[in-house]
Amino acid sequence: MSAIPDLLWYESGQSGLLGRLLEKHQALDELFLRLAAEWHAEKTAFPPLISARELAKVAYFESFPQLFTAAAGLASDEDNLRAFTSGGMLDGDALKLTALAPVREILAPAACYPLYIAMQGREMPERSIFTVRSNCFRREREYLPLQRQWAFTMREIVCIGSGSEVRDFLERSRERLDVLFANLSLDVQWEVATDPFFDPRNPQSLMQRVDPVKREMVCGGLAIGSINYHRHHFGDAFSIRRGNESVESGCVAFGLERWLHVLIQKHGTSYDQWPPFE
Ligand code: AMP
Ligand code: ZN
Repeated sequence: MSAIPDLLWYESGQSGLLGRLLEKHQALDELFLRLAAEWHAEKTAFPPLISARELAKVAYFESFPQLFTAAAGLASDEDNLRAFTSGGMLDGDALKLTALAPVREILAPAACYPLYIAMQGREMPERSIFTVRSNCFRREREYLPLQRQWAFTMREIVCIGSGSEVRDFLERSRERLDVLFANLSLDVQWEVATDPFFDPRNPQSLMQRVDPVKREMVCGGLAIGSINYHRHHFGDAFSIRRGNESVESGCVAFGLERWLHVLIQKHGTSYDQWPPFE
């Protein structure tokens, strides 16, 4: 058990939640679901593995090669499986893998990708707002309980529509969130940010620098969420259209474990003393 009550910490960058802390995690998600409901958002759920071929359409792999976690398994021919089992299988705490089957999937690095992929090829005549929650996986240089994890939980509210519809959604979400931060006594600053592009010469990275599209909710130096304006990025990549034009999109993303962290920093670990989530 770590110093935080009801938290189990795994050095691999994962946490287990028990008791009251788990209740708070669930209550946070319910809070975000209520925010989504204010937009009459449609609830969606997707599997945790995402097609590499689909993600390649949004240049995911050249943008974030450092972040992704491949869903890899052994090639299933008998010789290969025997080579694995007879080779000792483990070297210290690491698997001694033999030949791999083709790796066609990665573990979700963000909650909203499967949504655009699911909308692929659609005509969307009206503004559509969805909410999706996912376990997300990102390889990071180092891990810290609740603050920086390999596996963490992301809830998103996603808007697909015209440019003005998406911008309006993002702006009003930001105003709504400022009310929430005040209710929770959280000192949150909005900071213009760029995604952690592997190569700063990447065209998307350059675009974000020239015309910022990502604003982060920063509390005590930690981004607990972000507001992202993708313009036509996903609409173009997945041929999601309104009439002759591809749609625009934007999302509001929350990192649930980071919210727990800043709430603990602010209100302590007597979880019953926390202000109500509203
Ligand atoms: P992003 O798509 O990078 O804006 O991520 C959305 C939110 O997920 C961030 O604002 C964080 O709150 C959370 N997040 C991102 N990476 C991690 C991580 N490695 N561990 C925990 N939370 C994370
Ligand atoms: Zn998103």
